[in-house]
Order: sequence, then C-alpha cells, then structure tokens
Amino acid sequence: MTALPQFPYHRDPFASGSIRESDEDCDCCGQSRGVLFDGVIYTASTIKNLCPWCIADGSAANKFDASFFDADFCDDSGEAVALPKEFYQAVFDRTIGFATFNPFGWWVHCGEPAEYVSRQEPYDMIFECRICNKLHTIQDLD
Ligand SMILES: [Zn+2]
Ligand SMILES: [Zn+2]
Repeated sequence: MTALPQFPYHRDPFASGSIRESDEDCDCCGQSRGVLFDGVIYTASTIKNLCPWCIADGSAANKFDASFFDADFCDDSGEAVALPKEFYQAVFDRTIGFATFNPFGWWVHCGEPAEYVSRQEPYDMIFECRICNKLHTIQDLD
C-alpha cells in the first residue's frame, strides 16, 4: 500500500483508528486507493467515502465544504484563542479526523496549533508543540 499523505497536525492516523481499508471509490476524486477516512465528516453534502489524499490537499474541504473536527483553538488553560484563518483551514479542514467524545480545544502553543500525537486511554489526548516540542494533555471525558 502507498504511504499516506503527511498530516502536519495529526501524527499517526492509523494508530488513531482514522483509516479503514476499502476498495470503494472516494466521493471526491473518484479513485479507489485502498484506504478511506474512517470518521465523522462535517458537511451538508451526502458523502460517505473520502480518501486521505483528498483531505490532505484540501480538495474535500473545497468541494463539499467539509471539515473533520468539532473543535476550537485553546491555550494552556483551556481558554479559546484566535489564530489566523490559515490555521483553521490547515487543522480543521485539511487534517484527517480522530474520534473524540466531545467538542474539544485544540492546543495552541508558541502561536501555532500543536500536533495531535495520540490518545492515552481513556480520556487523555496528547498534543506536542511543533515549535518547542512541549507536550500537553487535553482531557476528553465520556
Ligand atoms: Zn479522494
Ligand atoms: Zn511551544
């Protein structure tokens, strides 16, 4: 299988359970690439299958006005922070989703969104700052 595209804000989509194997066609590019996104697609369109490449390059976001998170940016103390528009698009529209129980605050450090590393069951979501490599835990309770 070909390697997945890189997601700068989501380290390991396989480990997150965000990928399913399937020979069905992607609803965006029409290709069958062997793997599809396994998770929630926030869009008004009726689409079922999206390949990771159409998420990574923004074509799914453009074509279906789709996003992949119910989240907002937050600082160390969980307070909402505003970032330039490019970051919202890069993180919420062009990053492959991962399952959470609740809407959550995506950790921001050094003025940029951090990278989602992994989930430590049951409730901890681990983020790492892409600039200073500091780690931070966001809780997602069920
Ligand atoms: Zn596609
Ligand atoms: Zn930092």
